[in-house]
Amino acid sequence: MIEYAVVRSRRKTIAIQISPAGNITVRCPARMSQREIRQFVESKAGWITAHLNRIAQEPVLPPFSESQLQEMVQWAKDTLPERVDFWAAKAGVTYRRITVRRQHTRWGSCSSKGSLSFNCLLALVPEEVLDYVIVHELCHRKQMNHSPAFWSEVARLLPEYPQAKAWLKEKGVSLISRLPEP
Ligand SMILES: [Zn+2]
Repeated sequence: MIEYAVVRSRRKTIAIQISPAGNITVRCPARMSQREIRQFVESKAGWITAHLNRIAQEPVLPPFSESQLQEMVQWAKDTLPERVDFWAAKAGVTYRRITVRRQHTRWGSCSSKGSLSFNCLLALVPEEVLDYVIVHELCHRKQMNHSPAFWSEVARLLPEYPQAKAWLKEKGVSLISRLPEP
């Protein structure tokens, strides 16, 4: 029997989500019956089991060493300005400066005065994901929030952004877990 949590909402479809720790959440329309939900989950049992097996087999990777981190910081400092300038021009925004940090909780941030800060772990993410983080922070120069207007600005620049966002959600946690304690 597969254990799962149910989150009901105004969505129209049912979907299963598995967290990096292997917790299963079913998101479904408000009126769906327990029986329908159970049937859906059972119909996906093969996929769920395969996914859970994969998580169980993932090696626990050691924390990054000081020299690895310094390399990442250097890479980010060398690489980010050009890419940020490219996207800032496309977005039609300006920014103040760029800093690179080891951050345990975020991939980037944008202050109200326009200073951008990026996580050095971006050195290890795919290019599309790096672009997404840059575009996300630059769009905060127009919208200091995560309103629909903000997301439509992100989508205008990077229509494929949901994949990058999903990548961070799925794989980002394991990268962040390898940062040594501050
Ligand atoms: Zn944001």
